[in-house]
Amino acid sequence: MIPSKETVRNRILSRVERDKDTGCWVYCGFWDKFGSGHIKVGEIKFCVRKVVAWVYGRCELWDETYVARTCRTPACCNPRHIAVFDGLSSFMSHHQRGAKRKPYITKGRVLCARLLIREGWTYQQVADEMGVSLNTVWRLAKKKPRVT
Ligand SMILES: [Zn+2]
Repeated sequence: MIPSKETVRNRILSRVERDKDTGCWVYCGFWDKFGSGHIKVGEIKFCVRKVVAWVYGRCELWDETYVARTCRTPACCNPRHIAVFDGLSSFMSHHQRGAKRKPYITKGRVLCARLLIREGWTYQQVADEMGVSLNTVWRLAKKKPRVT
């Protein structure tokens, strides 16, 4: 049973602390390891931004839209700081636009970086190739790859 938008909105707002400087609504409930808020609606856990977009009528809970924050506060759920995208590709291009956003390093890319280093690429070359900082490559390289 899905509770009403009104109920859910009140539950979120009761856990929000408003930051006067940034205008951010910091959600003070459950956070994942990236600092994004999560909340259960019915029995299912959602990112709090998706739920906020839903209670403010910008998307459906079950639809294919993606939501992203436009500010720098991971736990922010101010509806004015939330962008709604109707597909994965527009969402991805939003993510790739901001250079200040941390690049997302997948397992595959880590393996790829290590392979290139083993093949004699310099850390700088790998960093340029993958679009990450030298520091990131250095950290990836320090962990010894598993020999298979
Ligand atoms: Zn914000």
